[in-house]
Amino acid sequence: MASLNWSYQGSNGPDQWHKLYPIANGKQQSPIDIITKKVKKDPSLGHLQLTWNLSTCKEIVNVGHSFHVIFEDKDNRSVVTGGPLTGNYRLNQFHFHWGQTDDYGSEHTVDGAKYASELHLVYWNSDKYSSFAEALDKPDGLAAIAVFLTVGSHNEHLQEIVKVLDSIKTKGKKAPFTNFDPSTLLPGSLEYWTYHGSLTHPPLLESVTWIILKEPITISSEQLAQFRNITLTNHRLPQPLKGRQVRT
Ligand SMILES: [Zn+2]
Repeated sequence: MASLNWSYQGSNGPDQWHKLYPIANGKQQSPIDIITKKVKKDPSLGHLQLTWNLSTCKEIVNVGHSFHVIFEDKDNRSVVTGGPLTGNYRLNQFHFHWGQTDDYGSEHTVDGAKYASELHLVYWNSDKYSSFAEALDKPDGLAAIAVFLTVGSHNEHLQEIVKVLDSIKTKGKKAPFTNFDPSTLLPGSLEYWTYHGSLTHPPLLESVTWIILKEPITISSEQLAQFRNITLTNHRLPQPLKGRQVRT
């Protein structure tokens, strides 16, 4: 398996990733199944504080296994602080995971239940590190906010994204994507679960403070079908908890 050839299906699929990325069998891998009755209530966890500046949203890129909405991250205009985090984490990109049908596609699951899709907003620790690349392999380097998507009514905010997917149909294609407000993709409640884990695809580095919002947002079946024009499916199954504690 060539390092750039990992995939979500077939002979380079997730059950083979460990051959080139031994950390795939590591102690802090993601995603996980959140078993709600085992979650620990932690009074020291504060509210999330999210700051957005529309000018940071730049472009949308087909990366083959997904599409990324990319943000300019040279300063702290779009950041998350609070919650389980110490200091400022700067927004770098967001993307989604999905499945071949509407019945599954989220990476994290809740008491074994799968959602149709999962949004990941990826941030890096800009108080300690000078770039996303530098933060990528540090234990406190990254933070990711995950939002579950359930199939329901048409989501007008998601449509802003869906309608440009036609212009980036093949790997490497990109299109300008500006003045988008990611806060429109968040649910009403910012209640969350948190644990320490990894990137969910190679290089699978164990550098991510996961913040998983409890309340899902909706996407229509038609919108989700448009995601599959980029790639059919792109989610990893839940990994062993290996003694980690999920907190809320
Ligand atoms: Zn992801």
